[in-house]
Amino acid sequence: MNERTVAEVEQLGKVHGEGGAAVVALAGVTAAFGRGEFTAVMGPSGSGKSTFMHCLAGLDRPTTGRVRLGGADLGSLDDEKLTRVRREQIGFVFQSFNLLPTLSAWENILLPLSLSGRKPEPDWTDRVIAATGLAARLGHRPAQLSGGQQQRVACARALITRPALAVADEPTGNLDSRSGAQILGLLRRSAREWGQTVLMVTHDPIAAGYADRVLFLADGRLVDEMPQPTAGRVLDRMRRFEPQEVR
Ligand code: ADP
Ligand code: MG
Repeated sequence: MNERTVAEVEQLGKVHGEGGAAVVALAGVTAAFGRGEFTAVMGPSGSGKSTFMHCLAGLDRPTTGRVRLGGADLGSLDDEKLTRVRREQIGFVFQSFNLLPTLSAWENILLPLSLSGRKPEPDWTDRVIAATGLAARLGHRPAQLSGGQQQRVACARALITRPALAVADEPTGNLDSRSGAQILGLLRRSAREWGQTVLMVTHDPIAAGYADRVLFLADGRLVDEMPQPTAGRVLDRMRRFEPQEVR
């Protein structure tokens, strides 16, 4: 692992289930993620994108191969240590926002810090809040915010700990294109300006066009990689997958 590398998978394999019900979700994927790099993961439905993200983020354990994050080999950690890595080193953004409905936006954003007994760093917190454009709405509950605003709160929550890796699974999947563009702009800015390493799963070529590179998965394998993607080139590449498999 060189010093720019924040996270790395080596020959990552994952089988879901056992015996006759076993499904090979990942069949030996090797990739590295550098500091400040914004990577999109694409591929047909069932190609292993979510499994890949879950293994990298310590939500799922590899069946074979290795996942390294920061200094840690995630496969060798017991559940308690893995939970701590997840809490302290990973920021999560989900398609469905996943904010706690009884907490204000502000409390949601600070939750990862509260859970690990850390105090907010004022300068950093101000910067993250300013980037979301939600300073005037921090007292609102999620139900009082639009979907785009809720997802901006979720992004702030993911970034507030300055995690080694921020992961986003279809972060714009429930948003209109304008709100989606704000989220993608925020993720790109976190990578470019703040050195945040970001991994995003998406099926949207426009979303992937915001990333620094795209990894393409098919049948649990890494089949292609595109640096400096544009929406148009990503769309062309996606069309070369089996048409019935593209979601
Ligand atoms: P994608 O996110 O690209 O759609 P997934 O990683 O969700 O792909 O799934 C990859 C393969 O693993 C699929 O065949 C899927 O049905 C299977 N799979 C995913 N999660 C589970 C699970 N918890 N139990 C059994 N099979 C699963
Ligand atoms: Mg998925």
